[in-house]
Amino acid sequence: MLVILGFLVLVFGSFEYSIYSHNKDTLEWNEAWGADTPDQHELVASQFRLAMAAFILGTLFVIFGIAVLASAASFNRSIDDEEFKADLIATLRTQQVVPGVKSFCQYCGRQLAPGGVWCPGCGRRVA
Ligand SMILES: [Zn+2]
Repeated sequence: MLVILGFLVLVFGSFEYSIYSHNKDTLEWNEAWGADTPDQHELVASQFRLAMAAFILGTLFVIFGIAVLASAASFNRSIDDEEFKADLIATLRTQQVVPGVKSFCQYCGRQLAPGGVWCPGCGRRVA
């Protein structure tokens, strides 16, 4: 969203810049004929400032918007990782020691849960 706003501001800036450069040509023409006025100088200067401000603001919006999008994407990815880890831990816990059942991994000797397919100790398939 911020990226789109930034591009709109940039488009406005380039539009403003084209007006500025047109008026600057007119002013230089007037200057050559000695017909320039302080008002014209002020107008051209303020249009230049406006165009530059729009360029800088638009660029900042685009950069900031991309940074926000990138950090949101990496935040979502880290949440996925946390969920994956929680799932894995829950799965391993269901396979851990159940009192009264004597079943052990043939590779590492760890006690297995009844019906467990994977050893919680060494991770090898036991069923
Ligand atoms: Zn094992």
